[in-house]
Amino acid sequence: SLQSKTALVTGSTSGIGLGIARALAQAGANVVINGFGKTDAIETERAAIESEFGVKAHYSAADMTKPAEIAAMVAEAEQTFGAVDILVNNAGIQYVSAIEEFPVEKWDQIIAINLSSAFHTMRAAIPGMKSRGWGRIINTASAHSLVASPFKSAYVAAKHGIAGLTKTAALELATHKITVNCISPGYVWTPLVEAQIPDTMKARGMTKDQVIDEVLLKAQPTKEFVTVEQVAAIAAFLCTEAASQITGTNLSVDGGWTAQ
Ligand code: NAD
Repeated sequence: SLQSKTALVTGSTSGIGLGIARALAQAGANVVINGFGKTDAIETERAAIESEFGVKAHYSAADMTKPAEIAAMVAEAEQTFGAVDILVNNAGIQYVSAIEEFPVEKWDQIIAINLSSAFHTMRAAIPGMKSRGWGRIINTASAHSLVASPFKSAYVAAKHGIAGLTKTAALELATHKITVNCISPGYVWTPLVEAQIPDTMKARGMTKDQVIDEVLLKAQPTKEFVTVEQVAAIAAFLCTEAASQITGTNLSVDGGWTAQ
C-alpha cells in the first residue's frame, strides 16, 4: 500500500496522467494533480479522487513550459503533504508536420513540456527523496522513445531524450532506494491521439478511417489500442517493493509495436 506516500503526476487532468493519479490514489497515496482544462471539470476529477479512494488530492495549475512554476509546484506539494515520494512526469503534447514546415515555437514547446519539464521536476524533488531514503520516478515516454515515425520530429526527439534522462537518473540514484523508469505505450485512446487525427489526415492526405487503420494501428500488431488503465497499472506496480530492483528500464506497453 502507498498509504502515507505522496504522488505528484504532471499532466494529470486528462488521459494517461489522470489514470495514473487515480491508480496511485487507489493504492493509498495522496496525489497532486496538474494540467490544463476547465476549472469545473478539474475540480470534479479532484473531488472524485478524494471521495472514491479516501485520500487527499491537491491541484496545481503549473505550466510545464515554465521552470519557476515547476519548482513552485514541487515546493507546494512538499508543503501540502510533507513530501513528494512518487514523481510521475507525464505531461505531453504532440504536433504533426514535416520538419521544414515545423513551427519553431512548437518545437520549443514540445521539448519544454515533453522533456525539459521532467528535468525541472526531478531537480526539485530528488533532494527530498534522497533525504527520506525512498523514491519512485516514472516517466511516460512512448514507443516513440525507441522508434520514429515521420512528421513527429519534436515528439520523437523529446521521447528519445526522456529515455536517456531516465537511464542517467537511475544510475545517479541507484544507491538511494530511488528507482527511475519509463513506460512506453503504443497508441492509447486519449484526447491526445484523437486530436492528432485531423493533422495526420492533412499531412498524409488520408481519411479518418485510413489514419486509424493504416497509420495508428498499422504499427500495433495486436490491432488494439492500449488502455489508460493498463498503463496506470504498470505505474502502480513500479511503486511497490516488488519492483525495487527495476530501475533504468524502458517498459513497453505497445501491443508488439517495437518488436518489429
Ligand atoms: P492528454 O492530452 O489526454 O493529456 C495530456 C496532459 O498534459 C493533460 O492533462 C494536459 O492538460 C497536460 N498538459 C499539456 N500541456 C501542459 C503544460 N504546458 N503544463 C502542464 N500540463 C500540460 O494526452 P495523453 O495521451 O494522456 O498523454 C499523456 C502522456 O502520454 C504524454 O507524455 C504522451 O506523450 C504520452 N503518450 C501518449 C500515448 C497515446 O497514445 N495517447 C502514447 C504514448 C505516450
